[in-house]
Amino acid sequence: MASVDVIADPQPTASNGADSETTSGPPAAESGGILTVDLGALVANWRALSRRAMPAECAGVIKANGYGCGIEPVAKALSRAGCKTFFVADLSEARRVREAAPDAAIYVLNGLIPGTPQVYAELRARPVIGSMVELAEWDAFVATTQWRGGAALHVDTGMNRLGISANDAAALAPRIRSENHGITLLMSHLACAEDTGHPLNDLQMRLFREVRLHYRGILSSLANSSGIFLSDNAHCDMVRPGVALYGANPTPGRPNPMRPVIELKARVAQVRTVAKGASVGYSAGWTARRNARIAVVMVGYADGYLRASGSSDEAPGGFAIVAGKRCPIAGRVSMDLMAIDVTDAPDVRRGDFVTLIGDELGIDEVATAAGTIAYELLTGLGQRYHRVYRSE
Ligand SMILES: *Cc1c(COP(=O)(O)O)cnc(C)c1O
Repeated sequence: MASVDVIADPQPTASNGADSETTSGPPAAESGGILTVDLGALVANWRALSRRAMPAECAGVIKANGYGCGIEPVAKALSRAGCKTFFVADLSEARRVREAAPDAAIYVLNGLIPGTPQVYAELRARPVIGSMVELAEWDAFVATTQWRGGAALHVDTGMNRLGISANDAAALAPRIRSENHGITLLMSHLACAEDTGHPLNDLQMRLFREVRLHYRGILSSLANSSGIFLSDNAHCDMVRPGVALYGANPTPGRPNPMRPVIELKARVAQVRTVAKGASVGYSAGWTARRNARIAVVMVGYADGYLRASGSSDEAPGGFAIVAGKRCPIAGRVSMDLMAIDVTDAPDVRRGDFVTLIGDELGIDEVATAAGTIAYELLTGLGQRYHRVYRSE
């Protein structure tokens, strides 16, 4: 008899040797969903990326609440492993990282909001300066306060999102080098690194190399996760992986070199029988083709399980692993619930758990089934889960 995957004990597990777990959120016994974040795998991924990028420094991109995994536990685990530099999106994230990693360098990617240089100084955070006006404001602050906490200069090499132009960067270089602007990092961002054949990759690498020539002696950084695998020429002095740390495949179309980090399980609220020909869920778009058993589980789109994963008679959707079997989502994903066709996994019962992410259901596959990418799936991970943080 197949055993159903049940999380038996809601208590934090006792420390045994180096293994330990901490938990957050509502108690497991009361939760409809359990999210496990394997910090050991996260650290192993960071180490693997570090080795790959050597001798470049490997930073950690932990914006958007550590890609949904929890910014504090992620920052602490990576710091302990030796990561010295973090990138976040905004100042509120920088504040959280500063608490968790008192000695780390923290760069704030979204740039300088008017009137905030003082906050950077208080947090010892570094703005990633992305326009000439931002640079002017930062310069004025640096000149009046003598603050030397550092900043990155973002150069646009083809993304056309943030960053000063390569021409402006070249023109500025003599001034940046002679006066002490406290620029500690020259940065650019690849637009298509996961598409190894895209011509923009070479253009961006070449343009960034030209800009770097004007900024000798200042550290430079170009590669995101996929950029690390694109070419050694993209490594420069520092790499900035995000999504690969959390287990997504930075090399789409090739085997995933990263270890899975998250696992998501949903509790079965009830199992019901649905007669052949009857429909399930909103808009009645999924019809039972046989007498079916349907497990209604306590995770929905309000928990970040994307609504686009639902199925209908016309279009298949995502899957859950139930007692080791792949079972399809039946009908629409609701806000708080969804239905799984468990006719082929007859032992599942009320209170059991089904796997939504984990086992052979990787985050890339689950995201693809919802028509999106692992980034969106991760950053949308909900707040109602009981969270388990597993360390090495
Ligand atoms: C998010 C981000 C990264 C990390 O990208 P991944 O693709 O998740 O590795 C690196 N650099 C910048 C500028 C970013 O915005």
